Amino acid sequence: MIEKRQFYINGAWVGPAAARDFPVIDPSTEEEVALISLGDQADTDAAVAAANAAFPAWSQTDPAERIACVERILEIYNRRAEEMAQAMTLEMGAPIRLSRASQVTAGSWHIEGFLEAIRDFEFVRPLNDHSPNDRIVMDPIGTVAMITPWNWPMNQVTLKVIPALLTGCTMVLKPSEIAPLSSVLFSEIVDEAGVPAGVYNMVNGDGPGVGSQLSAHPGIDMVSFTGSTRAGIAISKAAADTLKRVSLELGGKGANLIFADAGEDAVRRGVAHCMQNTGQSCNAPTRMLVERSVYERTVEAARVAAEGVRVASAHEEGRHIGPLVSRMQWDKVQGLIQKGIDEGARLVSGGPGRPEGLNRGYFARPTVFADVTPGMTIAREEIFGPVLSIMPFDTEDEAVRIANDTVYGLTNYAQTQDPDRLRRMARRLRAGMVELNGQSRSQGSPFGGIRQSGNGREGGKFGLDDFLEVKAVGGYPAG
Ligand code: NAD
Repeated sequence: MIEKRQFYINGAWVGPAAARDFPVIDPSTEEEVALISLGDQADTDAAVAAANAAFPAWSQTDPAERIACVERILEIYNRRAEEMAQAMTLEMGAPIRLSRASQVTAGSWHIEGFLEAIRDFEFVRPLNDHSPNDRIVMDPIGTVAMITPWNWPMNQVTLKVIPALLTGCTMVLKPSEIAPLSSVLFSEIVDEAGVPAGVYNMVNGDGPGVGSQLSAHPGIDMVSFTGSTRAGIAISKAAADTLKRVSLELGGKGANLIFADAGEDAVRRGVAHCMQNTGQSCNAPTRMLVERSVYERTVEAARVAAEGVRVASAHEEGRHIGPLVSRMQWDKVQGLIQKGIDEGARLVSGGPGRPEGLNRGYFARPTVFADVTPGMTIAREEIFGPVLSIMPFDTEDEAVRIANDTVYGLTNYAQTQDPDRLRRMARRLRAGMVELNGQSRSQGSPFGGIRQSGNGREGGKFGLDDFLEVKAVGGYPAG
């Protein structure tokens, strides 16, 4: 049994104020594999106090010093990549191949993107050409609480910790209690990189405990949160009394518009993207909207693609999807698959229960529904499992209307060979991100949503801006 009961506070590993063990469960085997502690108010207060105390000095450091710290973090992160991959596979069930090829590299990719963005970043900027003594000074916002989910652990942690470090903020990270092992390892990396004591702190805990305490804490200037819309609302309410900035990356219900002239590979690619990480990605294209003239052909192609998706233990090498993260998530996904059937969608592939031959572990069957209508629960709710909902449309206007008919707005997708239509889709789809013909966004591109998908923009230059305040200065001496 792995024991990781300590927190990282003020540059040291310290035990919890009061013992409160919490098990980490391997979703491939349903076995307890590690123990962590859940922190309480005293732990939260100690971490916030350390971060507050470190802020005056850290915020005034030369950016070159902060860049050097992050470069050391990147070097150590890359050196410990295999350990990191194993930690994520164990705690949240990403197949080891996906952990190595995507989960770990998402982190290094973002760190590199921030290092690139900071090089020509102006912390002191002119206002305009005709105000020689005005300056805009970009100030670090202060002490940031970071609350992260379990589905892409290092992706989310690096998107918050790295820009906060580079902009001169101090911080307290509370990773998901379901997948805390990767963040414990990340804290070891930050420690080894020599980040000054108090700048970075990590306390394990759950939402009602450390999560709520940080959100309401008067010593916290900003909460940067990634997770469910439910928790995002709770955090916003808890943060309201102290009027701290709340940056949110929440759920999604991505639409993937397949027009009749879509490229050959569009359907297979759409299914694979929906199923990747066992459907546990906020930007998953889970609603496939298909032009009527190619509808039945597309449903058949989606069935073939879904039946080709292998499900197996996360510890097995090879190309397959792993289990869902937890019993709770498995129950939720099963309930929604059943709801799809009950509400009259056509089950094309998969369905309730575990895949054949897997009777232990939180495994679900890759599932495709056709003839889904916009009012059905599976068309509206984020399922967070390997479940695709296919619906037909007749015109471009109708496709856009269905795509935008959601409380979410994270990523939408369109597949067509018509360049004018692609440009229209980029404008008309209401979302923080649009990806056309399978082309994902480049390093440094801002990740984030609109409406109930949140308001933050993470990654690259936009991700640095999220942690800064605009200070307007008059009478700034020339030269
Ligand atoms: P969750 O909201 O239950 O938990 C996320 C984090 O919030 C955890 O650390 C948890 O302890 C904490 N938390 C829970 N309730 C809280 C509260 N009341 N106050 C403070 N903290 C609280 O989400 P999850 O189940 O871990 O992750 C899945 C969700 O995250 C999905 O809805 C998914 O779409 C979303 N997500 C969004 C993005 C994005 O960038 N938009 C990325 C990944 C995941």
